[in-house]
Amino acid sequence: MPNEADCLFCGIVAGRIPAEVVHQDDRVLAFRDIDPKAPVHVLVIPKRHVTSLADAKPGDDAVLGALLLTAAEIARAEGVAEAGYRTVVNTRDDGGQTVGHLHVHLLAGRAMRWPPG
Ligand code: 5GP
Ligand code: ZN
Repeated sequence: MPNEADCLFCGIVAGRIPAEVVHQDDRVLAFRDIDPKAPVHVLVIPKRHVTSLADAKPGDDAVLGALLLTAAEIARAEGVAEAGYRTVVNTRDDGGQTVGHLHVHLLAGRAMRWPPG
């Protein structure tokens, strides 16, 4: 996993890499996934680099809460809150994490299946 210096999502936060941003505030940034797996597929990330959920510290509780509250707010803004949606945090190799900067997937616009693969 890359660290902050060559992190793809830190590049998006810094504006070095373009992204379709749907929300940002002082702590979090949300943008559309480049390869959407559902009609609505947004990634919500902390602006400060955290490699994965497994790397989050007790002091990160506020930003972790902000990620989920922001996902819920975007779901309302996208008009999918009533129908429902899925939030996913893939963590490290077995979790299927491919970008080493903590992110919450917001997936919506179709019925999700369970269990995930
Ligand atoms: P992961 O597999 O780590 O849980 O999710 C990483 C997500 O980031 C994938 O859904 C992938 O499509 C998305 N992604 C990878 N590179 C980029 C990029 O450069 N821009 C955007 N917007 N999404 C990306
Ligand atoms: Zn990063």
